Amino acid sequence: MSKQVPQPLPEGLHPETLAVRTAVPRSQYGENSEALYLTSGYVQPDAETSAQRFAGEEEGYTYGRSGNPTVSSFEMRLAAMEGTEAAMATSSGMSSIMLMLFSLLKSGDHVVFSQSMFGSTIKLIGSEFARFGVESTIVPQADVAAWKAAVRPSTKILFAETPTNPLTDVCDIAALADIAHNAGAWLAVDNCFATPVLQRPVTMGADIIMHSGTKYLDGQGRVMAGALCASEKLVTEKFLPVMKNSGLILAPFNAWVLIKGLETLDIRIRAQSERALAMAQWLEQHPQVARVYYPGLPSHTQHALAMRQMSGIGGALLSFDVKAKDAAQARERAFHVLDSLQVLSLCTNLGDTKTLLTHPASTSHGKLSDAQRQAAGIGQGMIRMAVGLEHIGDLRADLGRGLDTLA
Ligand SMILES: *Cc1c(COP(=O)(O)O)cnc(C)c1O
Repeated sequence: MSKQVPQPLPEGLHPETLAVRTAVPRSQYGENSEALYLTSGYVQPDAETSAQRFAGEEEGYTYGRSGNPTVSSFEMRLAAMEGTEAAMATSSGMSSIMLMLFSLLKSGDHVVFSQSMFGSTIKLIGSEFARFGVESTIVPQADVAAWKAAVRPSTKILFAETPTNPLTDVCDIAALADIAHNAGAWLAVDNCFATPVLQRPVTMGADIIMHSGTKYLDGQGRVMAGALCASEKLVTEKFLPVMKNSGLILAPFNAWVLIKGLETLDIRIRAQSERALAMAQWLEQHPQVARVYYPGLPSHTQHALAMRQMSGIGGALLSFDVKAKDAAQARERAFHVLDSLQVLSLCTNLGDTKTLLTHPASTSHGKLSDAQRQAAGIGQGMIRMAVGLEHIGDLRADLGRGLDTLA
């Protein structure tokens, strides 16, 4: 139900304002905090209106699988922050990718995406959709020429994630948008890590912005959610018909949690990124650390592009390699650092106000062969850190517990 009209606001408001003000109109009760509408059905005013709504000739809610006012508020708010005409919310980040692929592809179509994308994204496109005849080519994230060379007449979508997990690889959104549009394809960008606070891909030519709302949009590790932000035309003509019949919709309660999450997104991302930069600088100087991956550091291979594309801020996620003489020792040493934590969480999620650490080689990337992992640049000594809101001194002390006692 993306065509619902939001509560009227004057033109020209800034994203921070839109993040706390954009929503469906208040109910007759005048609630200041957005209402949570927990209902699966909607009472129709009369049979004729009901008929028109079901025929799609009049806007109005009919059934919970096709729309809900709380979900609409989240969609309007996120679209306003991303600068797109519309958005469609889904039950998780992966279900938003499902919705995009189902809505835009048919057998024989081709997708180009990067080898450093989220693991489930690679499996969904490369394995699951391949069973239905969708073809795909995997390219190195930062190699613009490789993206261009991979395009075929049947290419419908270029799908990029920037920065990526856990290596924080960046890609040039504007360059990929050119390649996509010259080929008559759409550029989709997974904007999970940068969020619209740091990066608005639509202003660089992207057609579809995909989110895992589970991460920074919620921001406090509570609910699963996802969304696609795009033009009104794509949302109503392509995504909505599939949404109505597929059951991918976001639950109203989760939408309500996200509405509240969006209100603090700007200050959270800025504060968490500030801590991440300080931690990246500290880790880079630490004698037991071999390498730090963080777009905000001048040592990052795409630092200049990242700063240009991400409002001069590196984001809240970093990774680092613990020094070691071989892979076995690297794993042992990384485990020692993780097992020495007393405050921070060993937890495979990100985008939380609590700092979360993971060992990618044995978790998110554990199913890859050693050779595949090596090709992806993910070693046994790598630790990923999704920096939260704890005091920087406590962050250093908790990591120092393990790093300073390595045998
Ligand atoms: C978590 C994540 C996803 C998948 O989102 P879910 O909400 O877990 O389904 C997709 N892309 C990126 C970059 C992610 O971090």
